[in-house]
Amino acid sequence: MLPGTARPERLQLSIDVLPGVGPTVKKRLRKLGLETVGDALEYRPHRYEPAAPERRIVELFGEDEAVIAGEVLSTRLQRARRLKLVKARVADETGEITAIWFNQAWLAERLQPGMRVRLRGNLRGRDFAVKSYDLNGVSSTADFAPVYPATEEVTVKKLREVTGGALEYARDVVDPLPAELKASAGLPGRGDALVALHRPREEADGERGRRRLAFDELLTLQVGLARRRQGREEERATALGEPGELAARYRAALPFELTPDQERAIAEIDADLAGERPMERLLQGDVGSGKTVVALYALLRAVEADRQGALMAPTETLAEQHFLTIEPICLQLGVPCALLTRSVKHDVAQARIVVGTHALIQEGVDLGDLGVAVVDEQHRFGVEQRAAIRAGRRPHVLHMTATPIPRTLALTVYGDLSVTEIAKPPANRKPIVTRWITEDRASDAYRRLTRLLKEGRQAYVVCPLIEESETSRARAAESEAERLRANELRGFRVGCLHGRLRTDERRDLMARFKARELDVLVATTVIEVGVDVPNSTVMIVQEADRFGLAQLHQLRGRVGRGAEQSYCLLVSRRREELTESAVARLEALVATTDGFELAEVDLELRGEGQLLGTRQSGLTDFRFAKLRADRDLLEQARGIAEQLVDYDGPLNDEVERLFAEHDLAA
Ligand code: ADP
Ligand code: MG
Repeated sequence: MLPGTARPERLQLSIDVLPGVGPTVKKRLRKLGLETVGDALEYRPHRYEPAAPERRIVELFGEDEAVIAGEVLSTRLQRARRLKLVKARVADETGEITAIWFNQAWLAERLQPGMRVRLRGNLRGRDFAVKSYDLNGVSSTADFAPVYPATEEVTVKKLREVTGGALEYARDVVDPLPAELKASAGLPGRGDALVALHRPREEADGERGRRRLAFDELLTLQVGLARRRQGREEERATALGEPGELAARYRAALPFELTPDQERAIAEIDADLAGERPMERLLQGDVGSGKTVVALYALLRAVEADRQGALMAPTETLAEQHFLTIEPICLQLGVPCALLTRSVKHDVAQARIVVGTHALIQEGVDLGDLGVAVVDEQHRFGVEQRAAIRAGRRPHVLHMTATPIPRTLALTVYGDLSVTEIAKPPANRKPIVTRWITEDRASDAYRRLTRLLKEGRQAYVVCPLIEESETSRARAAESEAERLRANELRGFRVGCLHGRLRTDERRDLMARFKARELDVLVATTVIEVGVDVPNSTVMIVQEADRFGLAQLHQLRGRVGRGAEQSYCLLVSRRREELTESAVARLEALVATTDGFELAEVDLELRGEGQLLGTRQSGLTDFRFAKLRADRDLLEQARGIAEQLVDYDGPLNDEVERLFAEHDLAA
């Protein structure tokens, strides 16, 4: 146990009370979500680096990691296209070698002749590629050490310093677990677990620490879910009876047969809707697996029972995309539907199906006879928004998600939802062929793209992810489209899709693309969801290394929607410029199109700081738990949670905080 009295308020101190954190570093840490001392304490290393052997320069051999120590003889800065290389001649008593740093130009000034350095890296040709280093006698590079998710701006080394400083405050951590429970489950204290996590004597130590912290997370979640299960027992919705004429006409109007998985989903939904117990069903299936078709069915079931249906999306763009998908078929069926977002307000009074963002459920909108609500990507909604949809009414709710979670885990994690999975996509699909190409060879990607265009296919080009406003993204996309029209895509008809287009402009653009009046859409990530043109079989993603795994998977889902072979070409920056996990993400995407597998990889890599603010899912918000590896912990937590439904103590605050922050499945 850690000595002294806990003063938990100290965990709220700004992170710049820690040594080595000034204003600049503070700003950079904030981008990693680290603002307080407590945040630093809870920043999980994603792995531990084994100690590397020390080698003399003459002994360097092969590509294994090693550490060399020596003196700097000379330094120079070299530019190779966008890449900046710092090269230093380094000598020890046995020989000399050129050490190379990528993109750390500022080092050129610091590496003065005569300086002692210790470098960890490996041979690359005749040079030594440096992965980490110590200057002037400090020596930590060779040791067993935690590796934190870093960015180009904040190095692993800095993060070691910051978390190391935060350990002072581990004694201020309050242990949320009841003492008896801790004793009976044989768990270490939370503060000790944090110390072990950051400064384990050996790997197993760190893992024990991590598991204790994971247990807290899982238990918190399970207690919250158990409480909600309890709270729902008495709720009632209107029973919608058996499917009727409209449902039959819908089926007949679809240009395809439903897959067995879709049929099963529909049967389960019908069974739910027949009763008074409000449906709370999670419909999960990979992008393009055919969820929207099922969701519309559920909405139409409300309509034929003289109720309204609402489809809610987390963003305006997504709402618009959904609207564009379902409007034509609603028109065909004679069902009035309306779009309702902050910027577009159709007349909802007449509408039987309303598609929109949460603006839809805010004051002034009368959805008094809401029968079925479909909530897309439900984990992206806030808790108030979800409460609002049920205020004064109790519709049947279908939650949709394209974030694949293995079914058994979903049952445990979503606790009180019934789960339907669309596991198999429509049978006519061929797996998408994915290639990863570095930007120096980007012209190959465009050659392949233009070849397919000449064969009559269509394509998407996704612009680099920039972290600025929708407006500057739109501008960047426009100028990229212009550039491509003049160069790689000369002679082809190129449109540009971005979030600053008005709905009618966007609809017009999509209609032209669908009608093959355009060959290529240059787009921002607004095409991530909902865009559906089966003849479009090629996608180039520029600077793909900047995107998150889940997002790339979503983007890729825009192709592979028809019977033709589809391709996804991921163009990244040069390999030397990429972080470890960017490489892992790209490799994973090439290796598989299976969303479940990718979800697992994503869980492993999660925490990566380069994702530029893409919150991927409530699930991957776990900081310590690894859903696959910690299956046993999850079961244990689920068991214990039942006994803690009425427990009042520090754990309670955690439960409330978790469920307020990202209510996983309201
Ligand atoms: P999701 O919402 O899961 O991403 P969608 O419902 O948008 O998937 O369907 C993706 C594409 O597959 C759409 O073009 C849709 O028309 C088509 N589709 C859906 N179900 C089937 C089916 N049973 N057979 C053939 N195509 C289908
Ligand atoms: Mg869809």
